[in-house]
Amino acid sequence: MTDDITAESTDGIAAVFRELYGAQPDGVWAAPGRVNLIGEHTDYNDGFALPMALPQSVRLAARRRGDGVLRLHSAQSGGPAAELRADGLAPGAVTGWARYPAGVVWALTEAGHDVSGGADLHLDSTVPTGAGLSSSAALECAVAVALDELYGLGLAGPELARIAQRAENAFAGVPCGIMDQMASVCCTEGAALHLDSRTLGHRQVPFDLDGHGLRLLVIDTRVQHDLADGAYAGLRAGCERAAALLGLPALRDLPDEDLPAALAALPDRLVPLVRHVVTENARVTEAVARLTAGDPAALGPLLTAGHASLRDDYRVSCPETDLAVAGAVGAGALGARMTGGGFGGSVIALTPADRTDRVRAAVTRAFESAGHRPPAVLEAAPSRGATRLA
Ligand code: ADP
Ligand code: MG
Repeated sequence: MTDDITAESTDGIAAVFRELYGAQPDGVWAAPGRVNLIGEHTDYNDGFALPMALPQSVRLAARRRGDGVLRLHSAQSGGPAAELRADGLAPGAVTGWARYPAGVVWALTEAGHDVSGGADLHLDSTVPTGAGLSSSAALECAVAVALDELYGLGLAGPELARIAQRAENAFAGVPCGIMDQMASVCCTEGAALHLDSRTLGHRQVPFDLDGHGLRLLVIDTRVQHDLADGAYAGLRAGCERAAALLGLPALRDLPDEDLPAALAALPDRLVPLVRHVVTENARVTEAVARLTAGDPAALGPLLTAGHASLRDDYRVSCPETDLAVAGAVGAGALGARMTGGGFGGSVIALTPADRTDRVRAAVTRAFESAGHRPPAVLEAAPSRGATRLA
């Protein structure tokens, strides 16, 4: 996989910007997609996660305006630029992809930051969309860091992530936690991000794949089942209900040792949800300990255990992700799990470098036998978070 962050690609995007808008951009920024190593469906429970940024990113060329006009263009969407008023935005008023960048302008304004002068934006992305790799967060975060700089707002990474999340939740109308945006803004090259979703405290944990003869495969199942949106809201409500019944602010506040008593006290339907969230938080803590001890290969069993919990307790896996995990582990991956919200999307597989071909081939064969479209397989190294390129 190549890193798309090069001087050459910056020249290319600036040239397209000039063609579109007849002026030079003030700058070019990039924000990456992510995979989450462990800690799934924990962010909205105030819990922990361990994402890393992908080499794939959204690049954004941008120019500040002063007349209140907001122009938006994406190489992936084509067509003419959308033209809006920066100060006239309201949730529901913008549809399609433009609601993500427009939502960032709205969320900044709502938070009291003056971006009313508008901007011209052109973006070009290498993050596959709808593959559970957070192309939406990458898009929002690229816009957030660019406007932060163009308007001299001086916002810190977690503040930008909150703005981007609010854009997605309240303006684009897509419920999501904070993990994707924190990963896109705050990750660094060569590390995974140990995230506390309650405080947005975060720490870089070295994740050296190469030095340990390892690879991380990202297997895009290329399916996204319709269940995803409604199920997310139901799961989130179930977790909140369980916390309320236990008299806790959030499930993050349930200590491991109190889990058996809590499960005995809860209605049956909430038991598997709580068991997943509490054991998943513990897996994040353990994963960080194993990485800190310099043993990334020891993540493997935690990944596979995390997948079993998402499949059997949280019930957000699907036949395609289960098959990819089983195929990868069966062919010699050290561990594998679905990553992201579920019901399709991508699977990660931690694999000794000399077994990657075997793992790829086994998963592809398993998909073929089951009558699924072949998956798209990438190799990912932990990459940098949002940054200015030019
Ligand atoms: P994911 O974030 O997992 O890729 P989502 O459904 O959350 O999937 O976000 C995908 C949506 O984000 C797309 O349907 C589109 O509206 C928007 N999007 C992402 N990348 C781009 C892009 N390069 N150009 C235009 N829209 C994009
Ligand atoms: Mg998304």
